[in-house]
Amino acid sequence: MAAPRFDIGCIPALTDNYIWLLRCSETGEAAVIDPSVDGPVLNAFRNVGWEVGQILNTHWHPDHVGGNAGIKEATGCTITGPAAEADRIPGIDVQVREGDRVRVGKLEAVVWEVPGHTLGHIAYYFEDNGMLFIGDTLFAMGCGRLFEGTAEQMYGNMVRLRALPEDVVVYPAHEYTLANARFCVAQRPGDQLLKQRLAVVEEARARDMNTLPVTIGEERVTNPFLMAHDAAEFARLRAVKDSFS
Ligand SMILES: [Zn+2]
Repeated sequence: MAAPRFDIGCIPALTDNYIWLLRCSETGEAAVIDPSVDGPVLNAFRNVGWEVGQILNTHWHPDHVGGNAGIKEATGCTITGPAAEADRIPGIDVQVREGDRVRVGKLEAVVWEVPGHTLGHIAYYFEDNGMLFIGDTLFAMGCGRLFEGTAEQMYGNMVRLRALPEDVVVYPAHEYTLANARFCVAQRPGDQLLKQRLAVVEEARARDMNTLPVTIGEERVTNPFLMAHDAAEFARLRAVKDSFS
């Protein structure tokens, strides 16, 4: 059976956040992932004629849940988020854990628990559609900072992510690609693939273009965090990145 069709939208917000909009083309039901703000999201939905039925949150950080209350008040939408962070997700209605199913119309995601950036961080993997909303766990050529979890936990997420089919499309929540690409090339100056990707990213950002989403296949060969051989190598790289400028 063919996967249900979907439409996707993206709203840049704050300094470098991306708010993803997802709609089941067959039922018209729509969701917004990690709304940092409410006004621009409500405007965008109004402009395209979609209705916000749901908010899906990946973790509690204010730049991911800041729009929850205003959007819920305006639309009466349902808010789904990580059970482990329920007390810090404004307006949460549905608490989810590893393996739970979340539906947007006919689109279905399985919830992954991906601790590290925050301890309760989750991702929404729409397996039949090959798309993954990953929040602040994986970025183009980078990964999330370890604010609450350990390098071992985050490395476990990398192992899980790189085992996905190469055509899975990943939707991170921040435009960090240029800084990440510069870091990667500084770490591996002899790597031609990294240099090529940096050039593509520089060109895109010079024209203020979005560099996301990305595919697992591309990240597998150009994201050093995803390519780390063990948790110790991952931890070293994360520490170097934390002090890189
Ligand atoms: Zn965050």
